[in-house]
Amino acid sequence: MDATHEVANQSRPLADYNLYATNRPLRDALAFHLPGADETPRLTRGERWGRAEMQTHARLANTHQPRLLTHDRFGRRIDRVEFHPSYHVLLGEAVAAGLHGTPWARGPGAHVERAAGFMLFTELEPSVLCPVSMSYAATPALRGNPAVFADWFGKLASTAYDPQLVPFTHKPGVTMGMGMTEKQGGSDVRANTTRATFAEDTTWGARYTLVGHKWFFSAPMCDAFLVLAQAPGGLSCFFLPRVLPDGTLNEIRIQRLKDKLGNHANASSEVEFTGASAWRIGDEGRGIAQILEMGTLTRLDCALGTAGLMRQALGLALHHTAQRMAFGKRLAEQPLMKNVLADMALESEAATALALRLARAIDKQDDPFEALMRRVLTPVAKFWVCKRGSLLAQEAMECLGGNGYVEEAGEGVMARIYREMPLNSIWEGAGNIMALDLLRALRHGGKGGSVAEALVAELGHAQGAHPAFDRFVATLPARIEVASDEVEARRLAQDIALALQASLLRRHAPDFVFEAFCRSRLGGDWGQAFGTLPAATAFDAIVARAMPN
Ligand SMILES: Cc1cc2nc3c(=O)[nH]c(=O)nc-3n(C[C@H](O)[C@H](O)[C@H](O)COP(=O)(O)OP(=O)(O)OC[C@H]3O[C@@H](n4cnc5c(N)ncnc54)[C@H](O)[C@@H]3O)c2cc1C
Repeated sequence: MDATHEVANQSRPLADYNLYATNRPLRDALAFHLPGADETPRLTRGERWGRAEMQTHARLANTHQPRLLTHDRFGRRIDRVEFHPSYHVLLGEAVAAGLHGTPWARGPGAHVERAAGFMLFTELEPSVLCPVSMSYAATPALRGNPAVFADWFGKLASTAYDPQLVPFTHKPGVTMGMGMTEKQGGSDVRANTTRATFAEDTTWGARYTLVGHKWFFSAPMCDAFLVLAQAPGGLSCFFLPRVLPDGTLNEIRIQRLKDKLGNHANASSEVEFTGASAWRIGDEGRGIAQILEMGTLTRLDCALGTAGLMRQALGLALHHTAQRMAFGKRLAEQPLMKNVLADMALESEAATALALRLARAIDKQDDPFEALMRRVLTPVAKFWVCKRGSLLAQEAMECLGGNGYVEEAGEGVMARIYREMPLNSIWEGAGNIMALDLLRALRHGGKGGSVAEALVAELGHAQGAHPAFDRFVATLPARIEVASDEVEARRLAQDIALALQASLLRRHAPDFVFEAFCRSRLGGDWGQAFGTLPAATAFDAIVARAMPN
């Protein structure tokens, strides 16, 4: 009892629940991609990462933001970032679960399992996943320098996290970051001006000296980075350790940390290289090819991370509206709120399906069909899932009314999700860059067939299952055939994404989900905001399937 009133009709926090056990769409998608796989590890993680105690770590890591320490008290440069202890707890959890380089050391299915773990962890805290994702993407690229790979692979795959800034030889596990973006160009990395000058041959191959800067350089406390720089032979990829093998700090000056909209637990810095030592990965002039290989993997994580955040936002909205009363009924029982919730549930499940499908394409590294599908799925999933995330976050926030907009020392998770959401759309290739990449992919043809043929074969799995699907998909081959006009690229990316999502829902979601998705997204029986599904939709079944508890 407060002094003047009783606090009533406020929802309980969504905590101490199993993130995996309650995520029916994810479980069904995994049963499809990994039939018969043991769910126990996922259930264990789901329980652990849903605990209130872990949520407190996420809140603390975000409200006590990282701090840059450029010098020690004696005036010597130290270039360190200090994090709240909860940041290290969370990063340790993610590494222990093998969400970084570990799948590269495991067998078939490891990338799909990791994708599921990545999505679940996102619901706990997304910003510590930045170095995790970059480590995942950088690991296979190191093969371009067999000596570096031999020394670092085991530690990137290890499930031990060690935050110390000491030589890699003294650490049981390491993390890696990436530096491409410079002030004058991020999407167009050809504009990079950082110079690489050959210094000497070493046991790690050619060592270069780097002079220049990076405008965005996230997680600067990582043990090493892959960076792009201009060598005499053109733009090239380099391995840049933070601490050199002899124990001295490399010449990487952290200028300042970015003051960001969200992603607060993660430090994103601006750096200068004042003669830093770096070892070449691959040939001189092959930097863009090298970066594109990594891009596929970080773009996967953008789609996975956004799908995870969408699921979390939806879960919070469902949890709140199931408790809050207004106008004599629970909000979730109000017909119009049911429409909003069901519409978001369809969007969330479709995002999960598309992101996991890309993970499967990455898992099957040696399968020629999956290689073609990777090429189309990467830009499409990154573009569409990330675009839809921010819209869904806004709508989910509105379901909580005014409370959704309030953070209250980090307790209001919905506001944090909303601030985080646009990031995945911008970094690692913003929306237009993804749509343009799709056009390039569709022009790709080779011995194993073309990307366009693979796409048509993939969509064939749902042929005949719904008239709206058939009509929608029938128009795609002709559009793909003439897919060269850049101005149409976003429309094509959107429509291919919707067709792929529908075909996946056909394969691993109940009929009422597939039917409602096809009718609204492909059949045009829908509006331009969430909550505009037609009256005949199976609202109750869709909402019940999505409930987080
Ligand atoms: C929090 C955060 C952390 C980051 N961390 C890192 C990091 O660790 N390492 C790193 O290297 N980078 C990092 N980035 C940078 C990020 O990857 C870039 O900001 C992004 O790639 C876009 O580059 P840009 O900022 O130079 O924008 P620009 O390249 O100038 O693009 C601006 C807009 O123009 C569009 N555009 C570009 N070219 C075309 C075209 N041909 N046709 C139509 N539209 C076009 C883009 O889609 C975009 O919408 C980070 C960014 C953020 C926000």
